[in-house]
Amino acid sequence: MSDVLIVGGGVIGMLTARELHMAGAEVTLLERGELARESSWAGGGILSPLYPWRYPDSVTRLASWSQQTYAELCVDLYENTGIDPEYLPNGLLIEAPGERSRALHWSAMHRHMLLPVNTDRIAEMEPERKRPPEEAIWMPGIAQVRNPRLARALAQDAVQRGVHIRTQTPALNLETRNNRILGVTTAAGRLSATTVVLCAGAWTGELSQILPTSADIRPVRGQMLLFKGKPDTIHHMMLEENRYIIPRKDGRILFGSTLEEVGFDKSTTSTARTALEQLAIRRFPVLKGFSVEQHWAGLRPAAPAGIPYIARHPQIDNLFINAGHYRNGVVLGPASARLLGDLLLDRKPIVDPAPYTMDAVRG
Ligand SMILES: Cc1cc2nc3c(=O)[nH]c(=O)nc-3n(C[C@H](O)[C@H](O)[C@H](O)COP(=O)(O)OP(=O)(O)OC[C@H]3O[C@@H](n4cnc5c(N)ncnc54)[C@H](O)[C@@H]3O)c2cc1C
Repeated sequence: MSDVLIVGGGVIGMLTARELHMAGAEVTLLERGELARESSWAGGGILSPLYPWRYPDSVTRLASWSQQTYAELCVDLYENTGIDPEYLPNGLLIEAPGERSRALHWSAMHRHMLLPVNTDRIAEMEPERKRPPEEAIWMPGIAQVRNPRLARALAQDAVQRGVHIRTQTPALNLETRNNRILGVTTAAGRLSATTVVLCAGAWTGELSQILPTSADIRPVRGQMLLFKGKPDTIHHMMLEENRYIIPRKDGRILFGSTLEEVGFDKSTTSTARTALEQLAIRRFPVLKGFSVEQHWAGLRPAAPAGIPYIARHPQIDNLFINAGHYRNGVVLGPASARLLGDLLLDRKPIVDPAPYTMDAVRG
């Protein structure tokens, strides 16, 4: 029997496993399929909420903590595993007409570097952007990771550290008695643990339904395109009307993503593909010369207002939850794992945990 059983092997589950294992716990990680093949694979890897000033402070606090530790995490993972998560601080250019003063106020409050830039400067920074807007907001400190590589590095790191990993093993049910969780039911029988942590992404709502208090988490589909570009075609990440472009180190270029309320349907659609491709080419005509190498969809785990649940269960003492990170699980992951560890191990929390409890009002 492990000290801690974590259900769900996406970035949140793996970062939580790492945190708890490093604090001395014996950890088992249970994954229904393969590690990190769901939202954590499908995401873009921008290490910032999009339009960060639109989010509540509770999201900003987690994002800021993660942003300060990400470079070091990636170096550690690269050194331990030989897998490079490709941390790249190439900045985020945001077109948000009419939001300049709100953005500047947010940056002063939270001490994030944010600069208004005009058309000439945008054209200089991104020569391939057709008809650059009159103004934009430049956040030079924002980085990206290549999330599938981050996930592979986390998986390898977990193996090397001695986290017990059980893939192809769905948790079928949560077994509780007298306000305690005994373990989870799998096809091979019950897996017992002293403590259980739910990190099952978009599926956490369903899984927690049998509990006296469940998590309000729904899937929101996002479709993404990958162009087989060349290095130095696009230099920075750019965001406009909720559609962004992410240039990777090797020249590949991501363009996404849709926001679709279609339940647990992870299929891609030709309508979305055409719309994304046309918009990408309209903004960056150079993309016309590159083929679309891949088109995929993932299910974001959406908690109300995008505020994740990072908490001890209110009725079941030895059950915790770390899920519901919506559009920001990659950036919020390290801080969420650390906070979960703080709560589980009775350490001083890195941030006030109140906004992330299961009964907190989420806007
Ligand atoms: C298109 C798109 C773009 C995105 N871009 C960004 C971005 O740029 N930056 C950012 O920070 N975030 C981004 N995100 C959001 C981010 O990817 C998610 O918030 C994050 O991956 C959530 O991680 P997770 O581990 O909670 O969920 P997941 O990665 O979905 O992992 C949950 C895991 O739990 C497993 N599981 C489920 N049920 C069970 C069960 N019963 N038993 C065992 N295992 C189970 C699943 O198989 C899965 O592996 C994006 C998401 C999408 C879809």
